Amino acid sequence: MAEQRSYRLPTSVVPERYEIRLTPDLTLWKFTGEVNITVQVLQAARAIVLNAAELALRSVTMRRPDGAVLHGSAQLDDENEQVVLSFPETLTPGAYSLQIQFAGVLNDKLHGFYRSVYKGVDGQDKPLASTQFESTDARRAFPCWDEPAFKAVYQVTLVVDDKLTAISNARVVRETAILATGKKEVVFADTIKMSTYLVAFVVGEFEGTAPVTADGVPLRVLAVPGKKNLGDFAAAIGKASLEHFSHYYGIAYPGDKLDLIAIPDFASGAMENLGAITFRETALLVDPHKATRAELERVADVVSHENAHMWFGDLVTMQWWNGLWLNEAFATFMEMLAVDAWKPEWRRWDSFAVSRAAAMQVDGLKSTRPIEFPVEKPAEAAGMFDVLTYEKGASVLRMLEQYLGADNFRDGIRLYLRRHAYANAETTDLWDALEESTKAPVRALMDSWIFQPGYPLISVEKSGRTIRISQEIFRYMQDGSDSERKWHVPLFLRVGTKSGTIEQTLLLVERERNIEFDQAPDWVVVNAGAHGFYRVRYSPELLFALRRGMMTYLTAVERFALVNDTWAATLAGLVSLTEYLELIDQMAGETDVNVWATMIASFHQLHRILDDAQYEKLADRLKSVLAPAVARLGWTVRSDEGELESQLRGDLIGALGVVANDRAAQDHARVLFSEYEKNSESVDRNVVPALVAILSHTGGITEYEKFFARFENARTPQEETRYLFALAHFSDPELVDRTLELTLSGAVRTQNSPYLMRGLLLNRRARERAWSFLKTQWNEMNRQYPDNAIPRMCEGIIGLVTPDLETDAKDFFTTHPVKQGTKQIEQHLERLRVSVDCQQRWREFPRV
Ligand SMILES: [Zn+2]
Repeated sequence: MAEQRSYRLPTSVVPERYEIRLTPDLTLWKFTGEVNITVQVLQAARAIVLNAAELALRSVTMRRPDGAVLHGSAQLDDENEQVVLSFPETLTPGAYSLQIQFAGVLNDKLHGFYRSVYKGVDGQDKPLASTQFESTDARRAFPCWDEPAFKAVYQVTLVVDDKLTAISNARVVRETAILATGKKEVVFADTIKMSTYLVAFVVGEFEGTAPVTADGVPLRVLAVPGKKNLGDFAAAIGKASLEHFSHYYGIAYPGDKLDLIAIPDFASGAMENLGAITFRETALLVDPHKATRAELERVADVVSHENAHMWFGDLVTMQWWNGLWLNEAFATFMEMLAVDAWKPEWRRWDSFAVSRAAAMQVDGLKSTRPIEFPVEKPAEAAGMFDVLTYEKGASVLRMLEQYLGADNFRDGIRLYLRRHAYANAETTDLWDALEESTKAPVRALMDSWIFQPGYPLISVEKSGRTIRISQEIFRYMQDGSDSERKWHVPLFLRVGTKSGTIEQTLLLVERERNIEFDQAPDWVVVNAGAHGFYRVRYSPELLFALRRGMMTYLTAVERFALVNDTWAATLAGLVSLTEYLELIDQMAGETDVNVWATMIASFHQLHRILDDAQYEKLADRLKSVLAPAVARLGWTVRSDEGELESQLRGDLIGALGVVANDRAAQDHARVLFSEYEKNSESVDRNVVPALVAILSHTGGITEYEKFFARFENARTPQEETRYLFALAHFSDPELVDRTLELTLSGAVRTQNSPYLMRGLLLNRRARERAWSFLKTQWNEMNRQYPDNAIPRMCEGIIGLVTPDLETDAKDFFTTHPVKQGTKQIEQHLERLRVSVDCQQRWREFPRV
């Protein structure tokens, strides 16, 4: 037998079916349970090893194939979260039934089987219990083979208070009252064969939307009482996306019902438990008449993403955690397809450019990582839930899809899913299926993107009828390392010549290549459609031609890429800040919401980098770009405008009042907000966040208390987080301190506090206080917050743009390592380094 890693389970005994019976106590926050597992002993053994953590095991018995019962003893291995069950005789190969009785706690760390408390409609605190098992926390709820490759069937029974609702992955078979106990037994049907991390139990008071039929099964949205009216929007996209996927994949939804459940305390955005998807409230519950378009898009995205997982992840699952990207990149890619089909007017693939840019920001660092890398310990999988897995992964899949053609790509996916249904697969299996169905060299192409970190900068120059295209690694900080790296780059060319426009797709595998045309090109677009995961650097002559014909030669998403690539080149020192701002000056007539989004993000970054005197001058210049754009749209909605235009209005007003610090806009925002307080219909929903941003940026104690009260009494999850996170934008030191206190006082849910803290670190006028607070409260934060939130909170350190704060941050993380996010911390520090470096480089700006 190969040498066994201590944290991996032996494969000599495998589970086939679990019967799990749990009795949670929502008063004392604990539970008791019993599990009967049908196992196959494949090789003779005296002991069985499986996973368990934070559980007390009470009795262990094993029924032999002949019916005889053996009593076993359990020895816990806390370090590896395993338990070794020893028996008085050797277990010879065959089918056994393993029974374990155990007890555990409903913890407050938002993983395993955990507690959640919320205020009921009567104002009283109400208890609820939910689960979050991915990656490796099923073992905190019941002893199990807690690795994705040990797929099995689960039959769950929950014993709960009579008045409560119990939900699990499959439909309810029967509910029986248990006499004189005030309790009932809820028995659920068998699940499909699946991995432990997808098992779910939820117990509490719930109300649901009326079930709709989606792909032949009932679909409901469930929430704690008083909120079910916020579930209709999610039910609509839930149904639409489930039907979209069943059609796209050519395979029916694998479950027997689908519940989308909002949980008041939730560590991530949502979790794809088969048939019982759990969400944080902001990602599921929304009032479509009050929420902004961006907030609605977020709900549509997350619901579609989780539904996509029912096939990609649940039906076919990665063999081990190194393949997590297969699940997540695909679900992210599929979420775009479904939302784009549902609401084409949102132009979802265009706004995906914003996500792609976020991934390129991290992937342009030396401290980036490949999409797929070896994962040894399961705990290392925790570090994989980041923009590289989700957004870079989805971007390279989109690039591949566009290169192969949408139908060819889909056919390959169908083959892959059919071949590995109810089982596990690895990245290589996907390339096999795509190569088989498309006959294209998918593996060589994709290996260069999946197993290599970073991405190329494509340089383009023209010489007569020839254009020369070359690739080299893009880095914000160039130190000459990894310069030998090359990618298989799908180039999507659009070339303007005297006799018309030529479109051409080709694969650049070499360092450089010449392409000859019949006539000399007037202009060239290398990444047409902006599907490519690379940046483009045009020669001055070609750039001049493109800028002259910006609105004619380039689509909106291509203008996005031009601005975003130029900003990245500016941060990297390849383009001067003056040159970048000249491009911005030219963009005042821009009408696309995403192009503006990337410009506005760069303004915020400049605000963190430049000193006060520099920034004051820059703000005037930004005003001259933003004010005409706001004037063109006006402050009120026109009846003939689309949702994206309304969103753009909000974004521009917010930027004018905050980053451009425009007094007139600030005054007008105050007037509008007081009207909004009297009549919430008086201001367009897409403008409200801009008013809140401006009032928190400029306001004092009056606005602070107003916003705090609105946070506490919010009627929708979106309102609640809008006013909560606005508290991070005040500048008065006393108010900053008040918000800092809130992050640990219990007044804010631990699912939100780390992000409030991140906002404070990113606030230029609060950053020093926030940083010293973080340092002194570090242990308490680590005790209170969910593990996955700590590295995300620390992203705020990219705002500490002074040489002293940077040194301090570096020292701090040397002595306070974040074990679940080593890579992310390294990346945050490098992003900070890039900004501090720019601060030094731009010291003379704009004085020269
Ligand atoms: Zn996912």
